[in-house]
Amino acid sequence: MRIDVLTLFPAMFDGVFSSSILGKARDKGLVALNTVNFRDYANNKHNTVDDYPYGGGGGMVLKAEPIFSAVEDVTAGLTAKPRVVLMCPQGEPFSQKKAEELSGEEHLIFICGHYEGYDERIREYLVTDELSIGDYVLTGGELPAMVIIDSVVRLLPGVLGNETSAVTDSFSTGLLEYPHYTRPPKFRDWEVPEVLISGHHGNIEAWRREQSLLRTWRKRPDLLKHVQLTPKEQRWLRELQAAEEKNTEK
Ligand code: SAM
Repeated sequence: MRIDVLTLFPAMFDGVFSSSILGKARDKGLVALNTVNFRDYANNKHNTVDDYPYGGGGGMVLKAEPIFSAVEDVTAGLTAKPRVVLMCPQGEPFSQKKAEELSGEEHLIFICGHYEGYDERIREYLVTDELSIGDYVLTGGELPAMVIIDSVVRLLPGVLGNETSAVTDSFSTGLLEYPHYTRPPKFRDWEVPEVLISGHHGNIEAWRREQSLLRTWRKRPDLLKHVQLTPKEQRWLRELQAAEEKNTEK
């Protein structure tokens, strides 16, 4: 996969792109991560990439020309059209499902905004996706782009040491992940659940599924609407719900 990030602050990406799993993925040649300063494409004497908004009002607006020119330069000579992803608090809320979808692409371009916003023609005629990392406003699109790139790259084959670890992650299964324990079996007075040291794989799987369901029901019941539950699981959750309602009545 190749990822190009259009930004006014390329130095922000240095540490993130060269450390930990992203750094290793890059070193192994599993992903090419490039930053492009779109100020280099400003076609005016003072290298300005923003201007006052038509109609007045506060804040500056990113101009269309430098961003279009940077994308055209990055894609020059390529036959396949890459996805062009705009970082934007008004965009589609980013999710694990979207990360999975983007991880199937060969080339992604991210555009990081700043200031008040973008000239609307960028949104209308250049980008293929608009993504938000949450209902809050940051000063720029760099941190959101890092968040999204990290979650996409870790899904690429060969990036994570243990291929199965992304499969059982929270959200990949539609549920939150079950609890983990490691040695020692007893720490202070707290013991590891017996089943995990039993060596019985069937029971361990069943316990993990139950814990995932329980966690999701407690912390993120909204996710359960999209998960295929067996009749037995549905009954169990109904019983938990009823018990809880009875408790709150008391
Ligand atoms: N005036 C804009 C609005 O109300 O939608 C907010 C602009 S914000 C100060 C500057 C830039 O930061 C945005 O263009 C976008 O690139 C990025 N940004 C801020 N919050 C974001 C979020 N939650 N998700 C993705 N990008 C965000």
